[in-house]
Amino acid sequence: MQQKQIKFKKNGIDKLYSRIYNPNMLISKKKKPKFIYIAVLFLVMSVFVSCKPEIQMVEKTDFKLGTICTISLPYGTADEVFDGCFEILDNVESYISRTDPNSEISRINKNKKGPLDPDTFVLLQSSLEMYKESGGTFNPGIGAAVSLWDIGGDNPRIPSDEELASVDVDSKDIYMNMRDNSVTIPSNMEIDLGAVGKGWSANLLRTYLRKEHISNAIINLGGNILLVGMKDNKKNWTIGLQDPNKDTGDSYILLSLNDVSVVTSGTYERFFIEDGVKYHHILSSDTLYPAESDIISSTIISKNSTLCDMLSTACFIMGSEDALEFIKKYDGVSAIFLLEDGSIVTSDNFNYEYEILNENYHMN
Ligand code: ADP
Ligand code: MG
Repeated sequence: MQQKQIKFKKNGIDKLYSRIYNPNMLISKKKKPKFIYIAVLFLVMSVFVSCKPEIQMVEKTDFKLGTICTISLPYGTADEVFDGCFEILDNVESYISRTDPNSEISRINKNKKGPLDPDTFVLLQSSLEMYKESGGTFNPGIGAAVSLWDIGGDNPRIPSDEELASVDVDSKDIYMNMRDNSVTIPSNMEIDLGAVGKGWSANLLRTYLRKEHISNAIINLGGNILLVGMKDNKKNWTIGLQDPNKDTGDSYILLSLNDVSVVTSGTYERFFIEDGVKYHHILSSDTLYPAESDIISSTIISKNSTLCDMLSTACFIMGSEDALEFIKKYDGVSAIFLLEDGSIVTSDNFNYEYEILNENYHMN
């Protein structure tokens, strides 16, 4: 393992956090006497950009895909390019959102069949591939169970055993019709692409930006990061990964990298607590309860943000030992997991420079 612990310059960090973190947007408006519901949805990670005079970046932020999305592009980029990025995110929402009742996925979940836009069809196909490859751990057909728990929604609750037994989450029951790009699912199943939507969107944005001849960009979709090119064409970007045990905006580690996506899944974002027990939003396909894992922050790094998003969720559920074995079969994919006991484990091919910021954590 080739690991390089170094010290980073940290100019500009606080400023960026305070600009994109708005705590008022994180709190559910409804009062829930039984549940303490905490929704720290937004920043899994934050990007610190210490702007050098050579290339200044300009960022624009909007609330899309149920989270805060920030696009940073070189100074002088036309406003239309920023607008184009946010339009793409609107389009993705109209395809896959489960909160918008008119999205394609919502209509399929309601009618149990329907057409999909060709790109969304391919996304569902890739998700079903990952379902198979991960032995059912990553599960796009888990939506009916997600709906029952409603974690992150208005009425989070522990479903009864009968309710959980009544839903179909076996993604093998999803029928994809290649001739007309339509999908049919059983009456007690719902599709949920929430674990891959932000990664997929980031890939779409990169394709669009390349068409617009933009060669340096940071795409931050609620902490799902995609770095396009290098900072100043010669230096790496510095990325901070959210410390699950600290306030939003506090990183446990800084990483130095370029031209890759960095995606994190964790249980510190969306959960509720009842009778002292924490129930989070990533479910086990076997128990249909929140997955139990030794990982508290599961980060995947690769060029492909869709793959990062799927794998970060799957690896979290698998736990560190199985996850490190599982990702070996994916070329160009590396991982860094923070475990409950404060140890940080990485895949053998993890060779990025880093600096650990929490003295209670240590590299294994
Ligand atoms: P986030 O979307 O919060 O960044 P993830 O990418 O890990 O985090 O996705 C979590 C979401 O994925 C959940 O909110 C839920 O909609 C969905 N989900 C829950 N369990 C699973 C699972 N086993 N496989 C696929 N998707 C899941
Ligand atoms: Mg994911």
